[in-house]
Amino acid sequence: MRVYSIPMRTRFRGITRREGVLICGPAGWGEFSPFPEYGPRECARWLAAAQEAAFAGWPPPLREAIPVNVTVPAVDPQRAAALVRASGCRTAKVKVAERGLDAALSDARDLARVEAVREAIGPHGRVRIDVNGAWDVERAVRMIRLLDRFDLEYVEQPCATLEELALVRRRVDVPVAADESIRRAEDPLRVRAAEAADIAVLKVQPLGGVRAALEVAERTGLPVVVSSAVETSVGLAAGLALAAALPELPYACGLATLSLLEGDVVADPLVPVDGMMPVRRPVVDEEALGRYEVDDERWRRRLADAQAALDAPVIGVAR
Ligand SMILES: [Mg+2]
Repeated sequence: MRVYSIPMRTRFRGITRREGVLICGPAGWGEFSPFPEYGPRECARWLAAAQEAAFAGWPPPLREAIPVNVTVPAVDPQRAAALVRASGCRTAKVKVAERGLDAALSDARDLARVEAVREAIGPHGRVRIDVNGAWDVERAVRMIRLLDRFDLEYVEQPCATLEELALVRRRVDVPVAADESIRRAEDPLRVRAAEAADIAVLKVQPLGGVRAALEVAERTGLPVVVSSAVETSVGLAAGLALAAALPELPYACGLATLSLLEGDVVADPLVPVDGMMPVRRPVVDEEALGRYEVDDERWRRRLADAQAALDAPVIGVAR
């Protein structure tokens, strides 16, 4: 096992460095990089994903390249437009509802940002927004209707709870995607039962691997958008494998996230060209990893704890 620690270009989820463990097995490299606040039981699924990558490999791809979106953070309209133009992507995901801002100011900035992105991407591009659960139902309904004048592809996690998502979904014409509501394999079925979303955002590591995510996708019966957990190219390759193996892929995926990191652990990083990412699996490069490798006892312990949780018999839970 090799531990990496890479500075983030911009602060994300309150962290300034992305850290994790890379493991190598007969099938290739796997990444184990749960966020700091996750405990052993949650980490067990992330470990299962890394072990699948290293020891089992992935199902064969059905496509050779994956369309991806550019992510536009809560920046001013000029910067938002510049990001979209520089990306070459045909789909933009715009972050809205900036935390810690007065609601009226936040709403005005969101309208200006989405307008700038629509203008930059042109009438044939797709624009989706990601609220990260920040709105209540009334504000969500009002804002989605206002923002839909810029023709929204979908709105990701407008509110925090499933009940709220279901209420919003019944009152707006824009499709609703569930992201934070899906963190465990059981969640998508609850999303479906609550009729809370039209689209499921799935990530490989939190769901326990490519096969587990494929199974979840099948059981939800919803169209899937594959997103990253802001990984190195080793982790992103697993996301590409999932996107490549899904029977249908109607939307661009959120896998163009390497630019959030200052560097990578491979020599040929997984970055998009003209809005597409080729389905391939780069290997760890010693020189690249050397720049970010650390010897960290905490990660050894996290890995051991996750392994213990993975091995522990689960009682009373359907697996
Ligand atoms: Mg999201």
